[in-house]
Amino acid sequence: MKATDVSFQYRNESKYIVMSCFSGDPNFCAECGSILPLPGLKDTVTCVRCNYSVSVREFAGHVITSSVVFNPVESSSIAKETEESELKGPVIDKRCSRCNKEGMVYHTRQMRSADEGQTVFYTCIHCRYQEKEDS
Ligand SMILES: [Zn+2]
Ligand SMILES: [Zn+2]
Repeated sequence: MKATDVSFQYRNESKYIVMSCFSGDPNFCAECGSILPLPGLKDTVTCVRCNYSVSVREFAGHVITSSVVFNPVESSSIAKETEESELKGPVIDKRCSRCNKEGMVYHTRQMRSADEGQTVFYTCIHCRYQEKEDS
């Protein structure tokens, strides 16, 4: 008797998992899992296989939330600014050890601790290779 109960429960559970899987994707029917047709002029999209219908408004909400996430424009422009500021400063005749051309921007940066002194940075104007020199 007990064994039958368990197998019945298990069957119910697995059916539930499959159904919730389908409802997570707005492009598929929550009932049978087949691909839904594109929304037309009606407020609902109806599955051609089982006649299950989904409201288009809910459909559109899903699309909006997934497209908002992708927005890397701000962070990339900030990175570009800092890269350009590294090329501002006096250009000296130091030879770049990567591209072997002369001309590197010289700039110093004071370290937090006074004991460490200044660190000199050289940035190659040709390939933007950076070298560090502690004074
Ligand atoms: Zn269906
Ligand atoms: Zn270089």
